[in-house]
Amino acid sequence: MTVKIGVVGCDGRMGRMIVKAATAADGAEIAAGCDRPDSADLGRDVGELAGIGPIGVPLGDAAAAVFAAADVVIDFTVPGALAEHARLARDTGTALLVGTTGLQAAETAALDAAAERAAVLWAPNMSLGVNLLLTLVERAAAALGPDYDIEVLEMHHRHKADAPSGTALALGRAAAAGRGVDLSGTAVYAREGQTGPRRPGAIGFATLRGGDVAGDHAVIFAGPGERLELGHRASSREVFAQGAIKAALWLHDRPPGLYAMADVLGLSS
Ligand code: NAD
Repeated sequence: MTVKIGVVGCDGRMGRMIVKAATAADGAEIAAGCDRPDSADLGRDVGELAGIGPIGVPLGDAAAAVFAAADVVIDFTVPGALAEHARLARDTGTALLVGTTGLQAAETAALDAAAERAAVLWAPNMSLGVNLLLTLVERAAAALGPDYDIEVLEMHHRHKADAPSGTALALGRAAAAGRGVDLSGTAVYAREGQTGPRRPGAIGFATLRGGDVAGDHAVIFAGPGERLELGHRASSREVFAQGAIKAALWLHDRPPGLYAMADVLGLSS
């Protein structure tokens, strides 16, 4: 059986990589793709846009047509587009895989609502390595305890629009979970000027931007007399596209519900 994949945000950096990865994958094909109505590339073949030659799928401007044509829709767009895509998943029952980061409460609520009637998976990072790192960070935070200060460091390419990265926030949540606390009460997202000493129990974040860095993350546990660092470096954004296709093939025939990348990768406890 071939799983029909639809791509919203098909003309973006990740959208194009998804087209390339899906076309190369066994058991998957691109059924439809769309981007914003003001895209200069509307009507062009999405395979050509992805640099792999024509695949007979023109770039459209209607997300509804993508949901109608696909078994699973992949969304790497912007948070502002998510409410509509979640509504379409809910109305059609089509599975929805979301990689978009920078979501606020309204967008996560829309995904929760969609998950009542469709299989939905949101993951701020689709790589195997990062999802394994999340479990390691939670275990390390639990084992080391509050004497070890936790700092999350990330660097991404110059085009990235949100900060800290969705992955850095997920690492912070994993560290907080390991300590049995909520990230919102402990996170320190920026420091400047006379900050005073470090607040006990704080989970700090530092963000770097530049060049074409696909995604570097490190979680530092700084304790008395030693420092433990757990990290991950993505050398290509292709790793996220490969992970997305693996997740889409896993998700397309699941019952309605909210799933995580850990479920796909067998890392759920
Ligand atoms: P990008 O700007 O290159 O692409 C986004 C695309 O979405 C653009 O083509 C844009 O025109 C399109 N778009 C915007 N609104 C739309 C709408 N309403 N309908 C259809 N298309 C719409 O960005 P990118 O680098 O591809 O990243 C996209 C998102 O994916 C970001 O949030 C980024 O942080 C995230 N990301 C996640 C992972 C992961 O593994 N989860 C990996 C890389 C990037």
